Amino acid sequence: MSRIEQGSLALFCDGERREPLSAEENLVGFCAKCESELLSLAYHKSDAGWMVSARCKNDHLVLMRYDLNWNWLEDQELEICAEATFISSIPREKLEAVFTRAEIRDLEACENGQPFTRQNLYRARAKYDRFEKLFGIRIKI
Ligand SMILES: [Zn+2]
Repeated sequence: MSRIEQGSLALFCDGERREPLSAEENLVGFCAKCESELLSLAYHKSDAGWMVSARCKNDHLVLMRYDLNWNWLEDQELEICAEATFISSIPREKLEAVFTRAEIRDLEACENGQPFTRQNLYRARAKYDRFEKLFGIRIKI
């Protein structure tokens, strides 16, 4: 599912991160779930066309996709995700609840551009989802 990052309004879809071109709030349609007005959160563009993320007053999210001429293609599901945080600004106790000491050491090393053990980083990355579910913090790197 595509995700939009709280705060930055960056869109993660098709395996890529796309910064918003505009965060203009416009009436862009009606919610398929509750029929209330849909307001745009942000506008994004890819090589294939435009994408508009929108939200209704009941917090239903939708990603509307258009071609380059603004012909509507489809609506897709969208979810909001927490803004990513650097390892160095996350309290140690929280990190230690999910990651081993070696993993934390190597995440920090990677963030600081120092040498690290690749396997520890892979193992740590596999736990990002669990960490986010527990603490609502998404890790950057
Ligand atoms: Zn709705």
